[in-house]
Amino acid sequence: KPVIVAIDGPSGTGKSSTSKAVAAQLGLSYLDTGAQYRAITWWMVNNGIDTDDPSAVAAVTGKPEIVSGTDPKSPTITVDGVDVAGPIREQDVTSRVSAVSAVPEVRTRITELQRTIASAAVTGIVVEGRDIGTTVLPGADLKIFLTASPEARAARRSGELKGADLNTTREALIRRDAADSGRKTSPLAKAGDAVEVDTTELTLQQVVECVVTLVEE
Ligand code: C5P
Repeated sequence: KPVIVAIDGPSGTGKSSTSKAVAAQLGLSYLDTGAQYRAITWWMVNNGIDTDDPSAVAAVTGKPEIVSGTDPKSPTITVDGVDVAGPIREQDVTSRVSAVSAVPEVRTRITELQRTIASAAVTGIVVEGRDIGTTVLPGADLKIFLTASPEARAARRSGELKGADLNTTREALIRRDAADSGRKTSPLAKAGDAVEVDTTELTLQQVVECVVTLVEE
């Protein structure tokens, strides 16, 4: 039976690095759901859709074709056949993704996509996001909720983004978390049966080991 692992938590807690490493080590597929929300947001921005207008966003939600490659060693994401792995990390997408992903029609569509991908995984899949354990795959075999101090998260994020200043990154991160958790359709929530792992004082390798051990139990 394929094993389903849900890894949720706010940004900068090491979700992506952890999820990819766990999937690679256990021979499982990998899905970055944040990349999917970023991809649909990228399409909206590129097509001149007013991302602050939920009805405008809802009206075109079904238009872009979003395809995720689930090999943890080289995950890919395309929109209508175009590789958007780079552009979805740009500031214009990052600043709008929270508003776009708050639109219920967007969440419904992306959630369906995620369930289809998860049910197609042969050996199993590690799915990372905000609402995987609570909403997308509530029947997951293992649910992890990663946390870290705001300082640790900002430091990790500014290490990822080229030339980003630590204070600016920290403020932007706090703003996006507030937007993510303050909205009516807040995705970020810890499932009752999730295992919480505080990564502040841990190395990536230690977090990976901890999750792998939990999967194997
Ligand atoms: O994981 P990442 O930081 O790339 O996610 C980008 C944004 O996508 C989040 O800030 C959140 O607004 C949205 N998101 C979501 N539900 C998920 C994953 C991401 O709403 N499962």
